Amino acid sequence: MIIVMKQGAPKEHIDHIIAHLQKKNLEPVPLIGVERTVIAVIGDERLLDTKHLRAMPSVGQVMPVLRPYKLASRETQPKDTVINIKGVKIGGKDLTIMAGPCSVESQEQISLTARAVAATGAQILRGGAFKPRTGPYSFEGHKEEGLKMMKKAAKESNMLIVTEVMDARDIDLVSKYADILQVGARNMQNYTLLRELGKTKKPVLLKRGLCAKLKEFLLAAEYILAGGNPNVILCERGIRTYEDDMRNTLSIGAIARTKELSHLPLIVDPSHATGRASLVSPAALASIAAGADGLIIEVHPNPEEALSDGDQSITPEQFKELMYKMVPVAAAVNKRISLTPPDEPKKPKKR
Ligand code: PEP
Ligand code: MN
Repeated sequence: MIIVMKQGAPKEHIDHIIAHLQKKNLEPVPLIGVERTVIAVIGDERLLDTKHLRAMPSVGQVMPVLRPYKLASRETQPKDTVINIKGVKIGGKDLTIMAGPCSVESQEQISLTARAVAATGAQILRGGAFKPRTGPYSFEGHKEEGLKMMKKAAKESNMLIVTEVMDARDIDLVSKYADILQVGARNMQNYTLLRELGKTKKPVLLKRGLCAKLKEFLLAAEYILAGGNPNVILCERGIRTYEDDMRNTLSIGAIARTKELSHLPLIVDPSHATGRASLVSPAALASIAAGADGLIIEVHPNPEEALSDGDQSITPEQFKELMYKMVPVAAAVNKRISLTPPDEPKKPKKR
């Protein structure tokens, strides 16, 4: 951090700041110029409250050098994080495909979808049993019954499960069934939920908030990491902009930028990012080209009849076509993608 003092700052103000920094076990290096004094701070500047420093007498500017999300940042860990869940890797060279309906509607619907998407290589079954809905009168999911249906479908097709947990009180219940706990966009800044998820070791798929800046997104991830759970997967799902032709705006730049800023795996959701089935395929391919580590895609056997998000759900046939289109794009960016059905998940090691 660099602290620039105001012109003519008296010595006692400079000494006051130096004493404050030393109290925090940081090393202040004052550089006394003709016009003003600059204090360089050596050590972990994140221990300092920049707003507090700015309020100190004679302080002109405070310029942090490090990012505030220490654990999520590439500054701390240059190497990509790879999360291995029962043999399925997320991050690194592999492209991981998660697919399934927006909501778990019936055993037949979820089993049929699982079979269809697993047949062309999807390893992780998505589906909501606890659904956040914009209005209180929409279908909110089958809750535990839905989780049971998902478990059966996933087992039949050798898939893992990603599903949303909306409330900290449901973490234990959802964890009984899920391999990855999804935090929905609307909950990205639910710090009570994030703190509780930090206490578990379950992988968390953290969706970017509707209006979240990248810094806020990575600070939300930091809550889970700082709590002691290193298994965080970021999910870019588009944000709100002034464009209202599509449900959200998918920033391809944000995908590449997030990968620069953080070592965490990044999955893209082209379904919620666009809100239109016809745009899922181009958005998915562009996301892979921009460096995504995988995709989470809404697939429904009969989108017309879907209880939620039918307009952005693709059919199993369209999913298959998309999987084949991904192969050359993945190869161009040096990623591996599998088009064969997943192997039986490996038993987790006893801790
Ligand atoms: C979902 O995945 O079905 C969902 C509700 O997504 P988001 O939280 O990104 O809106
Ligand atoms: Mn949905």
